[in-house]
Amino acid sequence: MVLCQQCPTQPPSLREVTQNVYSPTTLLKLARQRLLREEALAISALKDLPNMMFPEMFEEAFIDGRTKILTAMIPVWPFPYLSVGMNINNLNLDTLKAVLEGLDILISQKVRSSRCKLRGIKWRDTQHDVCGIWSGFHEDKDLPESTTQKQPVENSPECEVKKELKVMTQLQLAEGRVDESTIYLLQWAQQRKDSFHLCCRKLEIQGLTKDTLVEIFNTIRADCIQELKLGFFFINELDLLNPYLRQMNNLLRLTLDHLRGSIGFGEENEEEKAITLISQLPAFHCLQEFNINDVSFIDGNLKEFLRCLKKPLETLCITNCQLSQSDLDYLPYCQNIFELKRLYLSLSLHNLLLAPLGFLLERVRHTLECLNLKSCEIKESQLNALLPALSQCSQLTDVNFYDNNFSLLSLKQLLHHTGKLSQLTNEVYPAPLECYDNRGVILTNRLKNFGPELLDIVRAKRQPKKVAFATMPCFRCDGHYVYDLETQCCHFKWDPLQS
Ligand SMILES: [Zn+2]
Ligand SMILES: [Zn+2]
Repeated sequence: MVLCQQCPTQPPSLREVTQNVYSPTTLLKLARQRLLREEALAISALKDLPNMMFPEMFEEAFIDGRTKILTAMIPVWPFPYLSVGMNINNLNLDTLKAVLEGLDILISQKVRSSRCKLRGIKWRDTQHDVCGIWSGFHEDKDLPESTTQKQPVENSPECEVKKELKVMTQLQLAEGRVDESTIYLLQWAQQRKDSFHLCCRKLEIQGLTKDTLVEIFNTIRADCIQELKLGFFFINELDLLNPYLRQMNNLLRLTLDHLRGSIGFGEENEEEKAITLISQLPAFHCLQEFNINDVSFIDGNLKEFLRCLKKPLETLCITNCQLSQSDLDYLPYCQNIFELKRLYLSLSLHNLLLAPLGFLLERVRHTLECLNLKSCEIKESQLNALLPALSQCSQLTDVNFYDNNFSLLSLKQLLHHTGKLSQLTNEVYPAPLECYDNRGVILTNRLKNFGPELLDIVRAKRQPKKVAFATMPCFRCDGHYVYDLETQCCHFKWDPLQS
């Protein structure tokens, strides 16, 4: 239990909203507002509205809930794409119905307006300006950078389905908690399957029944899915999902979050059955990112979890799980993690020999850009196994060793090694153990005194950009003390990792 010397009495203040509310009202805006007040006039004026005014006009009509105008704008939308941001005001069933009604008009038209260029709508877009409307010329702007840079042969960025019109969206489906807009969209798309494609790139599902799954995959195509999150599942339910997982040929990111053993608790051979199901996960031929958080039975079975990788992975993230020595021993021998760019492990390693992890670092030394070993409870005696390999990881830009148990001496040793990494731009380290007294009280003076000395070790080798040493959170107020390069003093912060 860690305590700070003087807990602040104020609760964390909410960040001030710094939006500029005083932007000048332009003539164009006045004209739009005038039009929006008179729906019939606005709709008749659409044919003369300059293209550049469409996105802003649509956005204002959307936020004001002028559904008739929204419907009328769709069949004359002068750009190939229309993105509706995830956090725009009024993103609800009414605005969805208005947009889909516009699409219905467009589909039913024998002769389309020559002005209409619409090929797709992104509903609940998480890229671009997530609070607004965005018009675009390309569909694939939201692919992860690495895919657009070097496209894997087996993965085409445009959806394979060549139907003229599509709605691209992300879906979050939890048993009993599917929102009305999602249900409406799924039903709408189901009824128009022949003329229209509902393209789901990002799917999140939590504990669904077989009937619901069949219904969903009747409407969306598994091979459109690029990002899948399976949360709060019992491992034996993977049986239901496996046929669909097998069709997900374009999956780039997979997250297993909070997977538990079978429903029949205490069943005999429960673990064995669970592992058989895990090992039956299909091969993912273009997966780039694999996240495993809070999953049971991984202990001693990591190999079975990583069996589904068929292409070198870029990001591996294992958090809040328990790993055994045999799992760690296996890691550097796993076929498809030699080109890792990002490795996140946040789980207790304090009982394990870390030599295999050092070996893994050595294998990925030419590609690894981000190493996060936060809260791994690594002790001084274990650190030496990592250091030689760490200093060879020449591409590293981000390291995070926060919340590990290093003495001043071992922290200095670590800095001598990370000091050699010339690409590092962001470094987070734990405050050394000497910064706490034997009751766990944070000794801020000590951190203040050690700070310059620690920074000097790095500065002797290169010009650091962002470095912070942070204490554990105080048990009472949950705040931390941080010494960083920017302020070069010891100060109180609610979150040590935020600047
Ligand atoms: Zn406190
Ligand atoms: Zn698609």
